[in-house]
Formats: sequence, C-alpha cells, structure tokens
Amino acid sequence: MPRGNSPRQPSRSGRHEGARRVREVTLKKAGVSGETTKGSRTKGGSGARAAQSSIPAKTKSSAVKKDRSSRGSAFDPTSPDRVRKIIAGLDQLYPGVTCALTHRSAWELLVATILSAQCTDVQVNLVTPIIFKKYPTVQDFARLEPEQLQPDIRSTGFFRNKAKSVVGAARKVVAEFGGNVPEEMDSLLSLPGVARKTANVVLGTWFKKNVGLVVDTHVTRISRRLELTKHEEAKKIEEDLMRVIPQERWTDFSHEVIWHGRKLCVARNPKCAECLLETLCHAADKTWSTVEIHADAR
Ligand code: SF4
Repeated sequence: MPRGNSPRQPSRSGRHEGARRVREVTLKKAGVSGETTKGSRTKGGSGARAAQSSIPAKTKSSAVKKDRSSRGSAFDPTSPDRVRKIIAGLDQLYPGVTCALTHRSAWELLVATILSAQCTDVQVNLVTPIIFKKYPTVQDFARLEPEQLQPDIRSTGFFRNKAKSVVGAARKVVAEFGGNVPEEMDSLLSLPGVARKTANVVLGTWFKKNVGLVVDTHVTRISRRLELTKHEEAKKIEEDLMRVIPQERWTDFSHEVIWHGRKLCVARNPKCAECLLETLCHAADKTWSTVEIHADAR
C-alpha cells in the first residue's frame, strides 16, 4: 500500500470524533443514557485518557481526582439499573430479533440447532431445506442409518457425529415421545446430541418457554465483556445470567446478544464506536472508549 493511503482506524484515545458523533446521534435517537464508573483499573492508561477526554475542561481536574479517590469503591456490573440499561440498548439495536435458523416446526429447529454446532447459521440454512425436502418427517429421519444422512450434512462439519445425533434423536422422539419433540428440559436433554444450549433454543424459540438462556460463543464473549459474568464455562455463565436478567427476557436477551456478537461486538476489533452499550461497557479489548477500561473485564 502506498505511503499515506492507510485506512483510518478508531482511536483508543477516545478522540475519534467522527465515530463519536455517529454514536452520540444513535444514542440520542435511542434515548439510552450511559453511566460513569468508579474503582476501575485502566489498561495502559488509554481508558483513563479516554474518560478524561470526555470530561469538560473546567471540571476535568476535580473529576479525575474524585475518580482516583474513589478507586476501589463499589462499581456493581450487575446492578439492576445497569442491567436494565443494557437490555434497553439491546432492544433498541435489535428489535424483534429471533433465531436465525430457518425452521417450520420444533423438529426442524432441533435438527438445525444440532447442525449449527461449530458451523454458521448461513451454512445450516443452506443445508436444511434440502434434507427436510428429502426427509419431511421425524419418522423419515428415524428410519435412516446415520451413514445415509452424512453426505447431505457434510458441509456443516463434524458430520458423522451430527448424523448420529440427528438420527438418534429422531428415533427417541418417535419411540418415546409419540413423534413430538418434548417441551420439558429434562426430556430434551435425554435426546442424543442435545445439551442445554440446544434445549434452550428449542424451548425459548419454538415453545416460548423461558427455562434458561442460550449460551453460545457470542453470549459467552459479550457477557464477559459486559462483566455480567466472570466465568468461561457455559453452565456457570447461564447461572450468572439467570440471576441478573429478568426471566421473561431470557430468550429475547439470548437472541439479541447473539445478533450483537455477529453485527458489532465481534470477537476481534468490536465496533464500539457504533455500539449503544459503549458508555456502559468497560471491556479491556474495546476499540474505542469514553469510559474507563477495566483490565479484568474480557
Ligand atoms: S466491547 Fe464494544 S461493541 Fe462490545 S459491548 Fe462493549 S462497547 Fe459494545
């Protein structure tokens, strides 16, 4: 690339004015207000500099002093008020979102979710119309040998295990549940290839039951960035989220966070300048910040 032609990058100093204007306009439209924080550590000082840059010049010195004096005092990342603002921001960003896996029944959703492990929803959505045309009912799947299904689902990866799970689940649904996907967590978990994540997708999306939260790679990453959990294990993350998110929001929250992980809060270089949660977020790997960075937030 010729010298002088490198693309502009968001500034970690908080002086990315164009980006700030975009976020401020979006925030104003959404009516989401942010928060200040106390007692946080900074990463390489950039977060503190960013926080200072957003403080009016006259009050800069006293505000920074106050912040230093209060270091170590209570910032509660799971306070009901903060959680409410996070939910409001997600609602504004992703109104009415639902599961991205195309399906027409609980069985189709169950199969699609099994196939989505380690695979994109886009790829799964290319495969499922073909297999559901070929095998329209759960009984059709139950009659298959896993080897017969393998070629059709090969492109989703781990196709041998997935074929075994889908055919095994179909046989059990037919043999023990009268051909109907069960609506209870324990029964769903008894099906081959079904763990809590898959069960929560089916229960929340198809049966509209808020029994738990879907914890996938996006929910794991964003819950940790937003300091709603410190855990890395799905079961513990789900338990933490169940404690702080109102139960009636569990399914919607899961879907919104998954969409957030695809659109803005991506794994590398999250698009913080466009994020309505920016003033609430102190994640260590933010790309742009008006608030202090918490070095222990991931
Ligand atoms: S890391 Fe960035 S994109 Fe993700 S929630 Fe925080 S501010 Fe938003």
